[in-house]
Amino acid sequence: MSNLEQVPAEQDCRTLPCLDELQILEPRPVPLGGPRAMTVFRTLPQKQRSLIGAWCFLDHYGPDDVARTGGMRVPRHPHTGLQTVSWLFTGAIEHLDSAGFSATVRPGEVNLMTAGQGISHSEFLSEDTTVLHGAQLWIALPDRARFMPPTFENYRPEPLHGPGYSLRVFLGTLGAQGHSSTSPVQTHTEVSGAELWLEPDTELNIDVPVHHEHGVLVDAGTPQVQGQPLAHRELGFIPAGAGSLHLRAGAEPVRALLIGGEPLNEQILMWWNFVGRTHEEVIAYRAQWQAEIGAEPGTLHGEQFGPFPPDTPAPLPAPVLPTVRLRPRPNPGDQR
Ligand code: MN
Repeated sequence: MSNLEQVPAEQDCRTLPCLDELQILEPRPVPLGGPRAMTVFRTLPQKQRSLIGAWCFLDHYGPDDVARTGGMRVPRHPHTGLQTVSWLFTGAIEHLDSAGFSATVRPGEVNLMTAGQGISHSEFLSEDTTVLHGAQLWIALPDRARFMPPTFENYRPEPLHGPGYSLRVFLGTLGAQGHSSTSPVQTHTEVSGAELWLEPDTELNIDVPVHHEHGVLVDAGTPQVQGQPLAHRELGFIPAGAGSLHLRAGAEPVRALLIGGEPLNEQILMWWNFVGRTHEEVIAYRAQWQAEIGAEPGTLHGEQFGPFPPDTPAPLPAPVLPTVRLRPRPNPGDQR
């Protein structure tokens, strides 16, 4: 059955996304830890939407003068059941993880860390960074891949250039005007991700698979997306069934992140840095992490989040658990 057939004829566009229309997801500011906290602007997850394809988390930040904000200083912390994607516009971040990878994350390069069954990593701005500007996103792993061994990949896409635009496809396949670009980076559901640049007063149709849903995050400029205006840091959601994304720049150039993918169709449970499926699973991840870093006594089950290089800043302990049971994220905007 096509997605078209699943959308009720009398759908209420005030609360639900309609085909060829845009659901606007507003950013909310979140301090990213520490007394000199840097502020990030989170558009996923939120009340109206938990997932776009398998994308389950989107933080946009900067440009920030790091002398004022302190920049990104996130000591060692764990992840499960997801892939993290770092994409920078300005600055650099030093990445270190328990799978044995260290990397400098730079603009124009995707750094994708697969947590799988468990990983821990740290992220600190590089010493020579004065301005930090970018995004961090997470992709939920489907049930069949979520216990895979952890790994890390880096890829610098060759930009696809055309009249008035350039497109850097860092995940999946996207194209325009008869040309397309495919990333070799491995994902476990059909997922796409790209940075788009549009010159002033230009418009572009981006070809997308009709069964994918999409998001457009505005980093600069004020584009029209599917004919509707989208403001700075807003994430526009385009449901499956579109076939192409239409973007038009106004008097200023536009820079945007495009994300998309096949609907995950799995209920995930996100708590802190863990993605799981049940309350018990996430409780066990937390207990294992706390025991591994010596923050709380507990029975160790192997080394899920280690080893980690010595002489690095102290790891982040997990927050206190809520007193209620953790519940999977509902996805009320989702039709399926
Ligand atoms: Mn992380």
